[in-house]
Amino acid sequence: MNKQTNFDLVLFGATGDLAMRKLLPCLYQAHVAGLLHPEGRILGVSRSELDTGGFLEKVETHSKIHIKQNFSDEQWASFTKRIQYLTVDVTRPEQFDALAETVKARKETDNVVIYLSTAPKFFAPACEALAKVGLNAPNVRIVLEKPLGTDLKSSQEINTDVARYFKEEQIYRIDHYLGKESLQNLLALRFANVVFEPLWNNKYVKSVQLTIAEQLGVEERGEFYDITGALRDMVQNHLMQMLCMTAMEAPKSLDADDVRDEKMKVIKSLKPLTSADVDANVVRGQYTADKGMNGYLQELNVPSESRTETYVAAKAEIDNERWKGVPFYLRTGKRMAGKVAEIVLNFKDLDNHIYENSAAAPNRLVIELQPTESVRLYTQVKTPGAGNKVEPTALAVDMGQAIEGRRAEAYERLLLDVINGKLALFNRRDELEAAWEWVMPIMENWENSPVPPHGYAAHSWGPEAARELLARNGDKWHEEQ
Ligand code: NAP
Repeated sequence: MNKQTNFDLVLFGATGDLAMRKLLPCLYQAHVAGLLHPEGRILGVSRSELDTGGFLEKVETHSKIHIKQNFSDEQWASFTKRIQYLTVDVTRPEQFDALAETVKARKETDNVVIYLSTAPKFFAPACEALAKVGLNAPNVRIVLEKPLGTDLKSSQEINTDVARYFKEEQIYRIDHYLGKESLQNLLALRFANVVFEPLWNNKYVKSVQLTIAEQLGVEERGEFYDITGALRDMVQNHLMQMLCMTAMEAPKSLDADDVRDEKMKVIKSLKPLTSADVDANVVRGQYTADKGMNGYLQELNVPSESRTETYVAAKAEIDNERWKGVPFYLRTGKRMAGKVAEIVLNFKDLDNHIYENSAAAPNRLVIELQPTESVRLYTQVKTPGAGNKVEPTALAVDMGQAIEGRRAEAYERLLLDVINGKLALFNRRDELEAAWEWVMPIMENWENSPVPPHGYAAHSWGPEAARELLARNGDKWHEEQ
């Protein structure tokens, strides 16, 4: 259980979608689980002219509906006692005085978390105004929501601006995938067991696949999505983190910098992509109308000529002793046939087969992050009766069922970690910028490419070109295996 640390959590963007849908409901769940210090306060902040009563009405209308479990009127009433609201327009520094007074008026805690759940253009002015009123002292931690920039340059600019006022150890850059229990379990699987690690290398692994597939399209977020695309939205951050956790060496400890040093080494070992590599090894796709669903170009607020990718598949290579020669296939897409996030290790075939058909399905390890949190190791098991046939059978563990205990949502875990000053599940500046460096040649190639994205039918598994990308190495995507 987390040690309870007293805190003031200042939540900028408190009236926004993320706060209402995730942050406040997760804080409620932590409150109900008894994980928040009884005196811990939440100061909701945004531009809207509201008093605390008006804000709480809004929270009750919007946020409460996202709390599906553990809701009780009594708990809700005690949770909302923690909450106050303050109007602060980030672009009006004079409005930060009242915030500073409210925070500093409180003597019984010196642990202040400032969560910027706002557009990144507000990060620099918010940090500057916070510093002017002394809310950047060593006891203050600042949380930055993604996206941290739209390319390497803008990411560097944000980091440089924030670094003017906050030290690196005060900065918590969110990638909510790192808060997923199942992704953390990957490290336990690898480093708390003796059986997997000896096989976790190019001697035994033929290829690795990392997938984040969504069934939804862009829905009503066409305008945002069209200037973002799947590469920025998913590859540079979530898929890159999944790759790091899969490929990294054992850290010296689970302390923040030990883990982040090892992740950084993986990103630095990624073979840089030339423009020719992008042409050959990266597929950009866009969903087309099918099964009664719109194509991307027919979606609301999407320009009819848009080339924004709703799908990416890329072959990455890690140039180190452990992984040399093993392709890492990264893919993500909207309007795909299934909603799944998973890591698949395909093992090499046996040299010698004494069973009739064992070559048909070499071993495979599937770590599913969603919709279930499970691990499945496909092994060959003899078919009953006469004959010497085997068939692939999964040794499967569903974490939710196998291990008792409440499984917190990623944002809850991350919020508690910030309150408790634990940095391990947050991105360090150098990691983030190295990840941007790796994706930049893809963005640059696409900006100049005469080739439009490959179409793929809505609710399919992506363009044919992505199938061909794997076929060249004798591989298949997981759903085809
Ligand atoms: P949103 O619904 O548009 O809310 C924006 C928030 O920022 C509102 O609370 C708004 O306050 C506040 N705001 C705007 N201008 C302000 C100003 N000048 N001073 C102070 N506050 C101001 O956005 P969101 O969806 O919550 O997203 C917030 C950030 O998180 C964005 O950068 C987004 O990309 C990122 N993010 C969102 C999600 C998600 O699922 N929504 C997921 C991951 C990352 P008023 O309402 O009072 O104007």
